[in-house]
Amino acid sequence: MLIEMGEEKRRIVERVEKIAKLLYPKAGTHGWEHVERVMAISLKIASEEKSPVDEFVLRLACLLHDVSRRKGSADHAAESAEAAEEILNGFGLKKEEVERVKEAILSHSFSGGRSPRTLEGAILSDADKIDALGAVGIARVFEYSGENGRTLEESVKHFYEKILKLPSMMLTLPGKSIAEERAKFVKEFLSKLEEEISFGKAES
Ligand code: FE
Repeated sequence: MLIEMGEEKRRIVERVEKIAKLLYPKAGTHGWEHVERVMAISLKIASEEKSPVDEFVLRLACLLHDVSRRKGSADHAAESAEAAEEILNGFGLKKEEVERVKEAILSHSFSGGRSPRTLEGAILSDADKIDALGAVGIARVFEYSGENGRTLEESVKHFYEKILKLPSMMLTLPGKSIAEERAKFVKEFLSKLEEEISFGKAES
């Protein structure tokens, strides 16, 4: 259940969005398009979730969750949480609101080894992982492979080692059902891909 924000907070979100858009790369696996999708998925999960979700905190966390993500950054979640605090500083938010945005960003990443302590954080974590599943998830895996010189077979391995494990990491019920549906499509795609890859090998 989404607890909608008032007009004043909506204006703050709009201003933060303008700043955030300038800070993200336009293209790439963690560019602005990813942020827009994570926002949409998060709002969908929030609307289906039984417990109350703070729309203001959720939207700000989505907008800023990967803002400091760069190739080779050691802990992008921690760096993005710090950057979020700096960005939000000038907007007159309550200290507690800034803390909740930071907490959600800090704990959204699996590689950071932290787990979310708030519902907003759990939703962001789920939405971020759901964007690595389904048709978009497939597209992003190969986008990443292109950026990093990974072969098709290495990409297939990545699907099994990482992507197909994501549904088991979901923290909300609505997130789990979206993730499972998207994983089903990934499996269908993979079986065809593997079939074609081994055909290529047999014929060469
Ligand atoms: Fe992300």
